[in-house]
Amino acid sequence: MKVTLLGTGDAIGTPKIGCKCLSCLDALRGGRSRRLRFSILVESDEEEGRVLIDTSPDLRWQLLKRNINSVDGVIWTHAHYDHYAGFGDFHRVQNHVDVYALKTTMDYILNYLYFLKPVRHDIESFQPFEISGMEFTLFNVNHPPTKTVGVLVSNGQKKVAITSDTNQDIPDDSLDLMSKADLMIADAIMPPDYTLNKHMNAKEAMDLAKNLNARDLRLTHLSHLYPPHEIALKAWPLGHDMMEIVL
Ligand SMILES: [Zn+2]
Ligand SMILES: [Zn+2]
Ligand SMILES: [Zn+2]
Repeated sequence: MKVTLLGTGDAIGTPKIGCKCLSCLDALRGGRSRRLRFSILVESDEEEGRVLIDTSPDLRWQLLKRNINSVDGVIWTHAHYDHYAGFGDFHRVQNHVDVYALKTTMDYILNYLYFLKPVRHDIESFQPFEISGMEFTLFNVNHPPTKTVGVLVSNGQKKVAITSDTNQDIPDDSLDLMSKADLMIADAIMPPDYTLNKHMNAKEAMDLAKNLNARDLRLTHLSHLYPPHEIALKAWPLGHDMMEIVL
């Protein structure tokens, strides 16, 4: 199984339009602080199956960069613009796209995408489903006020837990599911000196991974408030765009 972080930025992305902070300047120069919005690609062994978790507003360029012509499914974690708005980039590129999400999330997003007709699969939390030989389970997280799920991916041998957008107050049944993941990909929108009620900061995300005995951790959904990437990396296991992790 291979996981590619197609976009590791927050809703604004880095560079932030109009900002001249050190991270945004590094991003403008093409450094690793440059972050497209949130999408993750999961590929089965031999890259035969490809599933996209969230469709960022930057999707077109993300698909081009990774040479992806089609996917076997799209999973949406929640109905926030930075997680679904790029789906329209499949228009006249891939006609038949299977999409998976909670019913409430699906209703909202398909209303926005009324001009498209993806193949709808309403999913319930904690009910595993299969796409291309990989098993996926949606689990509830805490991203008020929007109903949001994280995604657990398993190929029968390895387990990947993706928190999606959440604060650290995750329900117990979800924590049970996420425990002992081979890889955790966690929301850590800001460095530890900031606290938000919708997202985790870097310390909260690292504590979560430690408490759940994750074997590996990458932080994502990162804002421009981190120091430039190469400096920030000394303190936190930040992901970067197009990072590939093979399990
Ligand atoms: Zn987000
Ligand atoms: Zn900035
Ligand atoms: Zn969100």
